[in-house]
Amino acid sequence: MIAMARTLVLNRSYRAIAVADWQRALTLVYIGLAEALDAELTPYDFSAWVAASSHWVEAPAGFVSSTSVRLAVPEVIRLVRYDRVPHREVAFTRHNVFARDGRRCAYCGRRRPTEELDLDHVVPRSRGGGHSWTNVVTSCRPCNLKKADKLPEEAGMPLKFRPSKPRWTLLGSLLPHPRRAIPASWKKLLAPAQA
Ligand SMILES: [Zn+2]
Repeated sequence: MIAMARTLVLNRSYRAIAVADWQRALTLVYIGLAEALDAELTPYDFSAWVAASSHWVEAPAGFVSSTSVRLAVPEVIRLVRYDRVPHREVAFTRHNVFARDGRRCAYCGRRRPTEELDLDHVVPRSRGGGHSWTNVVTSCRPCNLKKADKLPEEAGMPLKFRPSKPRWTLLGSLLPHPRRAIPASWKKLLAPAQA
């Protein structure tokens, strides 16, 4: 279950702002941008968390171990330097373009399984279009073939949305898994933010 473990990220004012995977959460604590909070919301810096982890018999989100240390995965961390999660670029990949577009064809709007989707260059590469977030969209095979080396207006296939570079959010990592259970320790922290 450790691979699935997620950590709630609070800003300095203890407001829930995001969800991180455990690697990211521990990294933020390790580099001093966040503190780990236990069930009573007692704060720990990284070395205090290491020391405390060595005494704990169990931890709600489990432990991760290396050769020298065993660390509890924090269920909650609090950013101490910033009120936003530090920026991270979204990799420009086929998978992430499909994810950005919700696996919907940008021309007909139909949703398709990944294996029936292609990437389409809005301005064809042969006409100087770039291979970038703002010129690449998800397309179904029939639309991709029909559009060929034309511009959307030439093909009579207007875009259903304007492609843009997505902002990376930790919360985004939750969205594909809406049915995952929310840990009990998060609930009291999430409630005020939703009010
Ligand atoms: Zn289509």
